[in-house]
Amino acid sequence: APAPPPARHLFSDPAEVEALRGNLLAWYDRCKRDLPWRALAATEPDADRRGYAVWVSEIMLQQTQVATVIDYYNRWMQKWPTLQALAQASLEEVNELWAGLGYYSRGKRLQEAARKVVCELAGRMPRTAEDLQKLLPGVGRYTAGAIASISYGQATGVVDGNVIRVLCRLRCIGADSSSPAVVDRLWDMANVLVDRSRPGDFNQALMELGATVCVPKAPLCGECPVKQHCQAWRRKLFGKPPKVPDVEDCGVGDCPLCPPAMEPWDSSLGVTNFPRKAAKKPPRAMRTATCVLERRGCHGAPEYLIVQRPSSGLLAGLWEFPSLPLAQDLQEEREREELADHLQAWMGWPVAAKGLQFIGEVIHIFSHIHQTYVVYSLPLDGDMTLNPALSPSRWVTKDEFHASAVSTAMKKV
Ligand code: SF4
Repeated sequence: APAPPPARHLFSDPAEVEALRGNLLAWYDRCKRDLPWRALAATEPDADRRGYAVWVSEIMLQQTQVATVIDYYNRWMQKWPTLQALAQASLEEVNELWAGLGYYSRGKRLQEAARKVVCELAGRMPRTAEDLQKLLPGVGRYTAGAIASISYGQATGVVDGNVIRVLCRLRCIGADSSSPAVVDRLWDMANVLVDRSRPGDFNQALMELGATVCVPKAPLCGECPVKQHCQAWRRKLFGKPPKVPDVEDCGVGDCPLCPPAMEPWDSSLGVTNFPRKAAKKPPRAMRTATCVLERRGCHGAPEYLIVQRPSSGLLAGLWEFPSLPLAQDLQEEREREELADHLQAWMGWPVAAKGLQFIGEVIHIFSHIHQTYVVYSLPLDGDMTLNPALSPSRWVTKDEFHASAVSTAMKKV
């Protein structure tokens, strides 16, 4: 059989592109979710405020579900409705509001970038994707494209996880979707497809389709507004028995966009053959001993000691129970002794290992770390003085603990 043209991976027919844009935008107008940042971007007359609102939402939405973000976004915009207000906030306030959202460096960088706009750019947001990416720390290619298209109407595409999935399915791209060849092709495609008169809506529509219809595991192809343009859907409908030579895969075996020859189309997966990713590295395993030090406060209610983490690195500037990273495979007794030594050096008075009461283990998965907290408690009589040269520390009630800038992992502890 003749090899099909590589055009199957492209959007090269202008009439098809036009039809796809129309179908997708009509669906978006009918079905889009009401989200607070969308309402603000659509109604706010001030371009800098629009840009700021979209920027905050996009940073919060990185790695986080929409349902979780809404409450954080609303509180954030209430507290810091403008760039100028955010520029005056302290990192402590930012961390407190961000607590529980994860990936804490996002909030920190957002605030640093707001200061930069106010101090170095006269309070004016850059207006193009190129300038946004160049001038604002923490703003990558995707976020820059989203802000520029949604807030300023620049006809520039965006590629995020949802768009990758939709485009790979629309054009049967089965090579590793994180490889440079595929990433470049996806950006080219997004820039070809984006609607020139409604770029922000088009980009949001493509992402919305990925989030609500073309979902990872069980896509709702029957309801999909662009199924007539979808190569993966066609392929599923008109699939062939496996022994027939696979003309659908460009037929030459060296196409940089087709699934690898060793892992061809699997008909049991249907459209979810796409996209494909290289196998992920397993997360690094870490063990950390942590101690809940408890005392009776002046009104008899229990109080707990929390200390502040360093201002850079994982969970920068957040508060936690005194903690100590442990070597793997230590005996329990040894773990307890190491924690007692750590507390002793820090408190300046003897701590007996056997006084530490083992409570249990808490597992928390960070993006690249499989963290096990080995939790101990130590009730204290009376007050104690901490070495102020070490980490900042404070006693908090349970309510104060929950209102502090503490991570979800510490709340689990
Ligand atoms: Fe995704 Fe199915 Fe629509 Fe294709 S038809 S874009 S696979 S939901």
